[in-house]
Amino acid sequence: MSSTPQTTDVLILGAGASGLHAADILRRAGRTVRVLEARSRIGGRIETVSADDGTALDVGGQWLSRDHVRAIGLVRRFRIPTFPQPCDGTKLLEIGGRISRHQGDIPQLPIWSLLDLQQAISRLERLARRIPVDSPWLAHDAHALDTRSAEDWIRNATLTDDARECLRAAVRAIHACEPRDISMLQLLWYAHGNVSFMKLATIRDGAQDIRMTRGAISLLQPLADSLHDAVVTDAAVVAIDQDAEGVAARLADGRSFSARRLICSLAPPQAADIAFAPALPSRRIAVHQRMTMGSVIKCIALYDRPFWRDDGLSGEVVSDDCTVQLAFDETVPGSDHGALVAFVNGDAARRWTRAPAPDRRDAVLRSLARWFGERAGHPIAFVERNWPAEPFSRGCYVAQFGPGGWLACGDALRQPCGRIHWAGTETATVFPGYIEGALEAAERATHEVLGACA
Ligand SMILES: Cc1cc2nc3c(=O)[nH]c(=O)nc-3n(C[C@H](O)[C@H](O)[C@H](O)COP(=O)(O)OP(=O)(O)OC[C@H]3O[C@@H](n4cnc5c(N)ncnc54)[C@H](O)[C@@H]3O)c2cc1C
Repeated sequence: MSSTPQTTDVLILGAGASGLHAADILRRAGRTVRVLEARSRIGGRIETVSADDGTALDVGGQWLSRDHVRAIGLVRRFRIPTFPQPCDGTKLLEIGGRISRHQGDIPQLPIWSLLDLQQAISRLERLARRIPVDSPWLAHDAHALDTRSAEDWIRNATLTDDARECLRAAVRAIHACEPRDISMLQLLWYAHGNVSFMKLATIRDGAQDIRMTRGAISLLQPLADSLHDAVVTDAAVVAIDQDAEGVAARLADGRSFSARRLICSLAPPQAADIAFAPALPSRRIAVHQRMTMGSVIKCIALYDRPFWRDDGLSGEVVSDDCTVQLAFDETVPGSDHGALVAFVNGDAARRWTRAPAPDRRDAVLRSLARWFGERAGHPIAFVERNWPAEPFSRGCYVAQFGPGGWLACGDALRQPCGRIHWAGTETATVFPGYIEGALEAAERATHEVLGACA
């Protein structure tokens, strides 16, 4: 096997879903590529670790929807075994310390709260459908929607505390931030880009429908394997220079790689760490500065069996708890273990990210024990990924615009800067924020590069 030359047609920054898919497309189109990845592993925001019995545990992205045609295409291409997310049984909703139980998607709330919630969601969905997914700043009411936070909208759109808290909990679960952190235009754009707000909140036929038996990394490992030594890990890019001849990326250790074009698949706040020469246009710099990462700590507790199912519980919880906001049954069919996954999101993640890991573990287990009984407090193993503390992500699930961001610089999000093209899930126009969005963004960026290098 010949090794990849130091100079290639295209350099790709980041070996996550977007970077690896872009590299695969370009390689199959006959171009030479080099993927530079800062971490010692591939996958980026997708990471799968193993339990002691070999069960795959996803500490990053994990679910696919049936609508994610590109990701499902990779599942078929690599014959990746999948299974439906377990969701049978009773779900729990905890608001203000009160735990209620419900079947299906409609929570058990007083009738006036439920009507209030339903009318607010209907209004939100109507507004979302009017947002152009490729240019939200051109929406008819973009100015009014981008200058207010989602929190402001929720307060105005609801009459009851229950409806308000349910919507806040949904925003925390979907965006991993507080409703005050994102603009209403960002929320509506994200909902429309992912079909609808309710799709994002739903398991069956929604965004949490399908899992991969060997973990989500099984989607990317075959891509990385087929690229051989074109993927360079432990290669954090610190500077990018471009001129009429080409583009060069310099690493912290002084190594340098050059190409005719470069695709950057980093989340925009990570790209802010790179020194660009000549300097990027001010609107592009504003994208790096005005998008901020959500905050999530993902925790998985393993038990000898999924004992909550004996009580008819599905494992799903939505809560305004000060530690865990979201939980699901994480059991993998065929595994020796039962598993629960707990998400610490938004303000709670910002608080807990700095705590000692054992304290964080105890707090998460206290929440699980409150919902599923004492046994949930005593797992046989516990795994967590503290995403806000990860140097090359500094948060998750995605970077998002706060109030005013889309209007200030949204049109620069996908605009190439000379020889530099932008990929990554944040730049997607379909399924932004998701693995599917990362793949779509790769296809758009490679299309630009192939057009430019034709
Ligand atoms: C806890 C969690 C749960 C999630 N759940 C889901 C889910 O269930 N379903 C779903 O579809 N999505 C989910 N997501 C989101 C999904 O994981 C992401 O949308 C997707 O993985 C993003 O891929 P990407 O290639 O755009 O970015 P990334 O995966 O972030 O790739 C960018 C890469 O660039 C690298 N990098 C950073 N700086 C540098 C540098 N200076 N030089 C070189 N390389 C650098 C990073 O290390 C990283 O590998 C979740 C994410 C998290 C964290």
